[in-house]
Amino acid sequence: MTKSASVLRETSSRPGSANPADQPCSVPAPLPLPSHIGIAIVGSGFSGLGTAIALSNEGYADDLIILERRASVGGTWHDNSYPGCRCDVPSNLYSFSFAPNPHWTETFSTQPEIERYLQRTAREFGVLDKIAFDTALEKASWDADRRVWHLETSRGSLTADFLIYGGGLLSEPFIPEIPGAPSFAGTTFHSAQWNHAHDLTGRRVAIVGTGASTIQFLPVVQKSAGQVFLFQRTPPWVFPHRNRPTTGPGPLPSRVLPWTQRVSRPRTS
Ligand SMILES: Cc1cc2nc3c(=O)[nH]c(=O)nc-3n(C[C@H](O)[C@H](O)[C@H](O)COP(=O)(O)OP(=O)(O)OC[C@H]3O[C@@H](n4cnc5c(N)ncnc54)[C@H](O)[C@@H]3O)c2cc1C
Repeated sequence: MTKSASVLRETSSRPGSANPADQPCSVPAPLPLPSHIGIAIVGSGFSGLGTAIALSNEGYADDLIILERRASVGGTWHDNSYPGCRCDVPSNLYSFSFAPNPHWTETFSTQPEIERYLQRTAREFGVLDKIAFDTALEKASWDADRRVWHLETSRGSLTADFLIYGGGLLSEPFIPEIPGAPSFAGTTFHSAQWNHAHDLTGRRVAIVGTGASTIQFLPVVQKSAGQVFLFQRTPPWVFPHRNRPTTGPGPLPSRVLPWTQRVSRPRTS
């Protein structure tokens, strides 16, 4: 998505969505920056959205802004789109306690479903229009005399009484320095910036690392790649994934009786 003052963003409503609330949602972009705000929150992933919703419920809805460098909500779940990307804890737990989702189609949901869930939650809880998209916080300094934060962003500056950081621990892909790597002639990319235009079918693929992401995309990639080489320094433990579809012949109890999902949450494992 390019930056444009007149663009209307289509947040996704994807085929196969099980939730009737997943309608296309357009938000005007980008939100004008105020000269001063009570609360500035960095990031619109789980942390930033949850904080903004909680503060809105406490009466601060008109005095907060979310600064988000991307063009869409979701953080981790917007950025990562590698094959097989999904939650590795049960979705009944990996969701806001105040926004249970009876429409998960699998017990360990895929990335597109989680991204849609976050978009929908932001909209339904009234914080979508509090987000200044395409707005990266570049510098923050505390003015002790005026008791305000001076915030410099990619779209201008503002001051804030409170600054809350929800920028994520894993939002910056880390690419280690490997001798000789810069002269490698093949295509390279980080799993957090998956190059979907590069077809791996029949290709020789080298994967570095065996963290949670590799564990998810390796089984997908190896099906079509010609050869796969996996470079592993520290072997991780991998437990069986007890994923199962939630869609069956009849509606889930939680779709008919939403309170059952709240009751089952403490017992989900
Ligand atoms: C591939 C992957 C799979 C994962 N799976 C799981 C899982 O199954 N279970 C689990 O518990 N955890 C998982 N995690 C961890 C996951 O990151 C956290 O659970 C959670 O989503 C983090 O949310 P967050 O809002 O703190 O950060 P993020 O989701 O990273 O969001 C941070 C946001 O801040 C924005 N931002 C950062 N810096 C700036 C700036 N300077 N200015 C403006 N905006 C900024 C970013 O653009 C981003 O939108 C996974 C992580 C990854 C990468």
